[in-house]
Amino acid sequence: MSIYLDHAATTPMIEPAIDAMQRSLRKIGNPSSLHTDGRSTRKDVEEAREVIAAALGCQPSEVIFTGSGTEANNAAIKGLFWAAPEKNLIVVSAIEHHAVLDPAHWLVEHEGAELIEVPVTSDGVIDCDFLADLVTRRGSEIALISVMAANNETGVIQPIDQVVEIAGDIPVHSDAVQSFMKVPLNYSQLGLFAMTISAHKIGGPLGIGALILRRAFEMPALLHGGGQEREIRSGTLNAPSIVAFATAVAESIYNAVTVLSLREKFESGIAEVAPDAQINGTGVGRLPGISNITFPGTQADFLLLLMDGKEVSCSTGAACTAGVHRPSHVLMAMGHDEIGATSSLRFSLGATTTVGDIEYALSVIPEVVAMAKAANSL
Ligand code: PLP
Repeated sequence: MSIYLDHAATTPMIEPAIDAMQRSLRKIGNPSSLHTDGRSTRKDVEEAREVIAAALGCQPSEVIFTGSGTEANNAAIKGLFWAAPEKNLIVVSAIEHHAVLDPAHWLVEHEGAELIEVPVTSDGVIDCDFLADLVTRRGSEIALISVMAANNETGVIQPIDQVVEIAGDIPVHSDAVQSFMKVPLNYSQLGLFAMTISAHKIGGPLGIGALILRRAFEMPALLHGGGQEREIRSGTLNAPSIVAFATAVAESIYNAVTVLSLREKFESGIAEVAPDAQINGTGVGRLPGISNITFPGTQADFLLLLMDGKEVSCSTGAACTAGVHRPSHVLMAMGHDEIGATSSLRFSLGATTTVGDIEYALSVIPEVVAMAKAANSL
């Protein structure tokens, strides 16, 4: 028995997507080839692009396939910065995924960019007053603003519509990797300039993502070569993964109402089995499936191993460097101290989570937390 509560890290591929991928893997034809085989694969890719575009409220030509959400974020941050050479300021929220933060820091170190991180409230929502003041004072210097649609550690949903309104003419990018297919999300209605999505978070395969980028906007490329994907992302298109990505969108089995009711059951159970635990970001809108919980007096990496010993997979949410658990920058930005930011676990529920999974996880938590507290007090 293994209970998987790490769907925000990756979620199982759905059967129709596996089938579609297998069929496509058996097919020959480079989508850029002009012969019949190539044109047939190209048709599959273009149909997939249309499905994804319709789900996101964008034009098919605005979908640029990439090798991951990480790549799409890098392309957006670097590309939008390079596209505005007269502007030197990058603005991101303090709680972005490293796939946004690290390219922004890279531009600071290697290209002389200035970076401002917008703080968040104790509930983990971006401080729009801070952003508005910054745009008023320095708007003409800002090359891009990047704010994620929802945070991967806490699930807290960000007010992207307000960010776009505050930004005015400044291009806004949003990393929507965690939000896509979980909560309503419409690229054109939001007025975004660029957006990132990734297949493996929604029942599609690993290693395929997309950058949604405003039509006809020319942006310097990360990858040069055959000129595919509007010359922004050269490389032979990964037709099997693209087809499976679109199938995961079209045949999604994710039911937000069910997932939310499971999370509510889990969180009310936590209040009973671990009364001193704190759920992060409870006062605001969150994705249905993410629950980030601080267990005072414990170390998250040890908790995670103990949970794994009980065959429950969950996450610390924050990155590890060479096996060393770092305090979560997201929880620190929400006002936790280093100790609080290293004693939290992320449980993330998905389309395949059952009531039995929740009940089992709750049943092992008291013992696991007691052992983690005892180890911590030594
Ligand atoms: N952005 C967010 C918010 C994520 O949660 C992740 C994955 O964890 C990524 C980006 C990276 O996506 P990928 O795994 O496709 O590179």
